[in-house]
Amino acid sequence: MKKEDIKKLAENENFIPGIYNYCDRWCERCPFTARCMNFAMTREYSDDPEASDLNNEKFWQSLSDIFKVTRELVEETAREMGVDLDNIDFEESAREEDIKDKITENHECCQAAKTYYEMVTEFFESEYIPALQVVDKEHIANTAELQKSDILDGPPTLDEVVEIIHGYQHFIYVKLMRAVRGTLGNAEEEWEDFPKDSDGSAKVALIAIDRSMAAWGHMHQFLPSHQDRIMAIIVHLERLRNRTETIFPEAI
Ligand code: SF4
Repeated sequence: MKKEDIKKLAENENFIPGIYNYCDRWCERCPFTARCMNFAMTREYSDDPEASDLNNEKFWQSLSDIFKVTRELVEETAREMGVDLDNIDFEESAREEDIKDKITENHECCQAAKTYYEMVTEFFESEYIPALQVVDKEHIANTAELQKSDILDGPPTLDEVVEIIHGYQHFIYVKLMRAVRGTLGNAEEEWEDFPKDSDGSAKVALIAIDRSMAAWGHMHQFLPSHQDRIMAIIVHLERLRNRTETIFPEAI
């Protein structure tokens, strides 16, 4: 794909600007693929099996092509905006970035999101795998038959529940880091008329929390004997949800 092709694609008014920054990257289940420029670009490459194969030279060639085009676009945009890409005080900006990174990492929401993904890892290592050795397989099948999930087309199987939990396990932390980090810069003040990036990131983190809580609810029905541990995780998510809503009221 050439620079001109990307620019032409970007002119398509059907695309929602920046939608890929506020989604869960679960393209297989996304209703907005037709309105996402990122999806259109990646499909261009993924339609070619050789260009998606890590062991094929064509994959690395296409990656190198994307890099070149991206660089050209950055240089062109910088020229248009009068930004000198060579004039950066690296030491000063690195210091500032370090301070912001520390503040972000220590923020209560980010800490709680980190605790969540650690709780998930611990659950799957210490409870889930041993539980599957003794679990009543018939109970799992019957439970799946009875379930109707509002986020899935059909009844969620245990595998699907696990997939959802793992899909969002680290995602919540990453999005909350972005949300908190976004409140520390000056960029947002320059774009007062637009919705804030931090609110968009918090919003998508909240959606991921909701879906994770629903998945844990299903997990509870699959593994009722592990109620205490599962409930502790759900309560933790609920607290994280409440704090996130309080700190980012515009994200609700
Ligand atoms: S198609 Fe994929 S990248 Fe685009 S908005 Fe949907 S989930 Fe996000």
